[in-house]
Amino acid sequence: MRRALITGISGQDGSYLAEMLLDGGWEVHGLVRRSSTGEWPRLAHLRGRRDLVLHVGDMTDLPSLLDAVRASRPDHVYNLAAQSSVAESFRQPLLTAEVVALGAARLLEAVRREAPEARVYQASSSEMLGGAVPAGAAVGSLPFHPRSPYAAAKVHAHHLAVNYRESHGMFVVCGLLYNHESPRRGPEFVTRRIARGVADIVAGRTTTLALGNLDARRDWGWAPDYVRALHAMLLRDAPVDGIVATGQSYSVRDFAERAFACAGLVAADHVVVDPALLRPADIPELLGDPSWAREHLDWHPSVTFDGIVERMVEAELACG
Ligand code: NAP
Repeated sequence: MRRALITGISGQDGSYLAEMLLDGGWEVHGLVRRSSTGEWPRLAHLRGRRDLVLHVGDMTDLPSLLDAVRASRPDHVYNLAAQSSVAESFRQPLLTAEVVALGAARLLEAVRREAPEARVYQASSSEMLGGAVPAGAAVGSLPFHPRSPYAAAKVHAHHLAVNYRESHGMFVVCGLLYNHESPRRGPEFVTRRIARGVADIVAGRTTTLALGNLDARRDWGWAPDYVRALHAMLLRDAPVDGIVATGQSYSVRDFAERAFACAGLVAADHVVVDPALLRPADIPELLGDPSWAREHLDWHPSVTFDGIVERMVEAELACG
């Protein structure tokens, strides 16, 4: 049985990836942080499975990473753990660097020492680009312009991952993924905030929804589609970095208008702009080139933008 180790398994992508690998017959090991409740809600439905093994550890703690790699003896390692919020990274820049940049360094070193033959996926991000990039460009030639502490930390981790590939001959790939969403998105992210806000208004708990920059445009995809892509990147013959995107961008306003319409409401009647939610440096548009994933992974998004909005709003309405 093939074994995978997933850091960040309790997050949005980690939980979908774990499901997908378990369905595919893999033994899945996951690094989870100690929690006072001992519960990881996004994994609750997988509880008790014998082919899922959780290792308590932390990206800031090298011994726990060494232990997790040693115990899991992985064929694949997916480094998805992160302080993944751009907004939060402005408030906690040092923690973000510690987890995202140095955490990747610790994990790569742990894999080099304990499982050097394992294939490693590093979760890079479109945020590293800081804006528009030439269509068709290979990841290696892209000009990085990180516009947040989160993006800067991801650039560090990305370069380090490439360095481990080049210096130590390890099979390490970086997937530069554009935004991807689902009902499992963290509650502070704008798409989930909008979906939750609609449900709160429908339930009569509030009448307004505060948002930041309504004009920011993002290339939003469906998270379960994206975990298919990162798995496919580790199954290729050679380690090559790549971009995963839908090739279509929509504004936060577009998302809000469709989300409110799903509940028979009009966004303009409820959305207010709160200057406190504006970022110190925002990226007007992140629009990805879908051609690399299409050509090299035969990857195609399965859910449209409207479908993503509907699923997220329906999930929140179902919660009441
Ligand atoms: P997420 O839902 O925020 O999950 C992050 C995971 O990292 C959680 O399991 C979290 O654990 C874990 N984590 C945080 N700090 C940790 C630490 N110190 N030690 C160990 N684990 C820690 O993020 P996601 O949306 O699934 O994204 C997965 C990865 O892809 C991240 O690296 C993210 O930066 C990157 N990425 C995401 C997107 C996107 O649009 N979603 C786009 C590009 C790249 P807890 O559950 O304990 O908090």
